[in-house]
Amino acid sequence: MGSKVLGKFLKDNLDDLKSKGLYNVINVLKSSNGPVIKIGDNELINLSSNNYLGLATNPRMIEATIEATKQYGSGAGAVRTINGTLEIHTKLEQKLAKFKHTEAAIAFQSGFNCNMGAISAVMNKKDAILSDSLNHASIIDGCRLSGAKIIRVEHSDMVDLRNKAKEAVESGLYEKIMVITDGVFSMDGDVAKLPEIVKIAEEFDLITYVDDAHGSGVMGKGTGTVHHFGLSDKIDFQIGTLSKAIGAVGGYVAGTRDLIDWLMVRARPFLFSTSLTPGAAGAAIEAINILTESTELHDKLWENANYLKKGLKELGFDIGNSETPITPCIIGDEVKTQEFSKKLFEEGVYAKSIVFPTVRKGTGRVRNMPTAAHTKEMLDKALIIYAKVGREMKIIK
Ligand SMILES: *Cc1c(COP(=O)(O)O)cnc(C)c1O
Repeated sequence: MGSKVLGKFLKDNLDDLKSKGLYNVINVLKSSNGPVIKIGDNELINLSSNNYLGLATNPRMIEATIEATKQYGSGAGAVRTINGTLEIHTKLEQKLAKFKHTEAAIAFQSGFNCNMGAISAVMNKKDAILSDSLNHASIIDGCRLSGAKIIRVEHSDMVDLRNKAKEAVESGLYEKIMVITDGVFSMDGDVAKLPEIVKIAEEFDLITYVDDAHGSGVMGKGTGTVHHFGLSDKIDFQIGTLSKAIGAVGGYVAGTRDLIDWLMVRARPFLFSTSLTPGAAGAAIEAINILTESTELHDKLWENANYLKKGLKELGFDIGNSETPITPCIIGDEVKTQEFSKKLFEEGVYAKSIVFPTVRKGTGRVRNMPTAAHTKEMLDKALIIYAKVGREMKIIK
């Protein structure tokens, strides 16, 4: 049945991955993705979601989803540029602009789609992009799609960035040059050096693009990494996701009115893919209401994160150089990392292992994502399990 060439391609490659232990088996949750999850018959303390503030399971968010769905329907019915722009989309965009301290904002169906649409709306094969070596996969793909020359910059190395910016400008080969970075790097939890990046950008007239998927709701009392550094009027593109701390699904770009007007006529996912569901838009609006009313959830997130970090460190684990709630537990060896994660699972903690090629060889880690929804008891229980498995496997004393 079907193409023989395809059949052989699939079988060979799947067998290859499986024989190397690199085939990812997907876990299915029987519960919501809250602080405790159910997988099969196991109840696990969940340290792997991006649901930083617990908003994905917050009753006000669920209510807002239902209300928006009742008013506008389950689907938007068309792409934004035909007649799929509902009032709730423009309301969301106004909220986002205010939240990000910019003139305007545009919503997309996902953060991934933002990077597919926004980069290639502005950059083309006459241009160059200076891209941090640890940038997210969707940034890398978005850059490739634009056709611009991609110049890889050593991770957060400002000397390398400046040298390569200077070289690119002096070559005279490019019309426009962009510098692009994650706001918060998702595997180590470190923060981009935005004040220095802005200085270099001003020196060489670079376009600045910050994808703050892991920073919104987390950094700058919830407003994100750019605002945390007081740079809201210095960054050309502020990308965010509605899928992580915001607790729904979707993405957005915030910037000047002209930039957003341009994206609304040129960003292809905006023109050719149906708009956000009303429920997701309604939930995202409510999330911003919650975030602007009080910093309670933000503060709780950081309190829990600091508590977990302190506990793991005291046990003797290597937790790297995170500056955010993202807490890696670096094991090193790939096989040992996977075994460690598996044993945590057996004891009641869900913390996914992350190994090469997602991170450098020999830096395999179990990544912990504490949230505002965890209780001290849950974190204490997780730490007891970490201690037990860590000692059994001789990772700690
Ligand atoms: C998660 C992530 C995305 C993708 O966001 P989605 O809304 O889940 O598509 C994009 N960029 C970065 C930096 C991310 O961490």
